[in-house]
Amino acid sequence: MPSVQGRATTTSKKTPKVPINPRLFEALDGNMPTDKPFPSVRLSDLPSEYATLVHRKRDQVPKDYRDNQHWLTCQECGKRGKYDLGLIAVHPEQYQKRNGPSFNAANEEALDNWESNVVEHIQCTGYFRCKHCNAAGNWAFPKDFMMFLLASMLRTNYEESFEESIVQLGHFQTFDGSEPKWATDAEEHLLDLIHETPNDAFLWNRLGNVYNRGGVPELAVVAFEESLRCDAGQVESHVLLANILYHLDEFDACIHHSHLALVHARYYKKLNAQALHDMLCVLLRNLLDVTMVTGNTDLFLPPMELAQSVAEEHGKHASSSERVLDIRSFDFYLDDIQSFSGLANIYLGKQVRSPGAGTFRRHRTKKKKRR
Ligand SMILES: [Zn+2]
Repeated sequence: MPSVQGRATTTSKKTPKVPINPRLFEALDGNMPTDKPFPSVRLSDLPSEYATLVHRKRDQVPKDYRDNQHWLTCQECGKRGKYDLGLIAVHPEQYQKRNGPSFNAANEEALDNWESNVVEHIQCTGYFRCKHCNAAGNWAFPKDFMMFLLASMLRTNYEESFEESIVQLGHFQTFDGSEPKWATDAEEHLLDLIHETPNDAFLWNRLGNVYNRGGVPELAVVAFEESLRCDAGQVESHVLLANILYHLDEFDACIHHSHLALVHARYYKKLNAQALHDMLCVLLRNLLDVTMVTGNTDLFLPPMELAQSVAEEHGKHASSSERVLDIRSFDFYLDDIQSFSGLANIYLGKQVRSPGAGTFRRHRTKKKKRR
């Protein structure tokens, strides 16, 4: 069965160095170079087929959140740097205190108290480490940042499009209920768990999600690939890799991971059915786009032998619905994700009525558009 390849072979050109949490490198069975105090590794030293490629084309990978750069001071080394904080979540209780009847913004002491309190209750999705000493999580906020936060929160009073704002009310939780303040805290928490069970594909996938959401796709693919080494049926990792590779125009690799995601989907139990269905719809949409761009729509559906070999791993036969699939009986539209719902359900193993009784319509052929 196709699987992610092992440690990348040496390349003729030196690949860039990236700052890294030494614990991540150790968890990947690497020996951290001793050129401390600044731990960084070459991307080619990471056990990843895609990290160097993703780094080279990282501007093509869409970010979950728009740029949100701020100057922060690292309290370990005392140096300032500009960092992308990603989405900032302000705990609703703090917001209510600010807007409660007892709060008096004209009272300087009350405002100071609120300011020092509110930074204790924000969470950020952006993944960043100190550019000077590689430390993480011990940051001091300048006055400018406080003004930004205050203004963003005041805007919530009258702006309807608050959901699109880079500062939102709410709080993030990891899958096990912890509430990390920084993406680097979420990383540490997951590395603690991975230390206990190093071959847990789900934990590696969740670590990849932290990096992906945090704006470091080259580390995300490393974690996703590691999760697939632990379990070739980690569907979410296949989907997320396929999605990144799609945006990099790496079509063969995108098709490879898309097919594996589809044939493993019906056996995957780590995500609720609706969320998995929605993921597959996007995957199928992108996959159709890729196969149309490359002029080979035969590659839209995974080969039957692949579905059969995965089914056999689970002691089953590939289902008859997978076997007799005829995409001519579907109407797909690249700009309508829901048009892929019926096919997604088939790959999820749901009983679906035979669609569209053979009405053949051409797929709307649209050129691939960048987001
Ligand atoms: Zn520092």
